[in-house]
Amino acid sequence: MDLESFRRQFGTRFVNLAKDSPLLLRDIRLLQERGVSIRRLNGKSYAYSRSSTESNPAGLICIGSLASPLDKVILLAHEAHHILRGRAPSDPDPTSMSRRRFVSLCMQEEARAMLHECRVTEQLYDAGHRLPFKHMSYMASYFRGGYGAIRAMIEEDCTIMDDISHSEDYGRRYDSKHRNLLRAKANAATGRRRRKAA
Ligand SMILES: [Zn+2]
Repeated sequence: MDLESFRRQFGTRFVNLAKDSPLLLRDIRLLQERGVSIRRLNGKSYAYSRSSTESNPAGLICIGSLASPLDKVILLAHEAHHILRGRAPSDPDPTSMSRRRFVSLCMQEEARAMLHECRVTEQLYDAGHRLPFKHMSYMASYFRGGYGAIRAMIEEDCTIMDDISHSEDYGRRYDSKHRNLLRAKANAATGRRRRKAA
């Protein structure tokens, strides 16, 4: 496994932390085997991933440069779960999937990504790393109630970028896709009418 690229992008402390989580090392190996691109997002502290983009067909994970090394490791574990094991379509097709179904799939996937993140956090904790309060409290919820507790926490949580609930955020993603579809249909109908009139 090649950790050198991680050292260059995220530093030695990141690599030393990653080495203490067998689960994360497995993720890294799988990401490398699949050819997923991992980039540093300069000037940001959050992370995101895309299962496929035009320039990164095998997937893309971006990790904010301003996050602490520990946060970067945990963010990578979270996004790796989305890429490697996520099932919610990133581009929902409104003709074959309802809004409710899409939101529910996304919430499920997000809760499982959090669960995975907590397992990696636990390995870092067991290896003797000190964890900030936020990660300790996530891990406590995970120990207390597993998937159900994490899911409930996410229902209440808001997204970092827009300050709206996660389910609202997923719902809006579906709505915008639906609007595009209706617009495309309307344009096609206008085109047909014009051709008839001509
Ligand atoms: Zn997520």
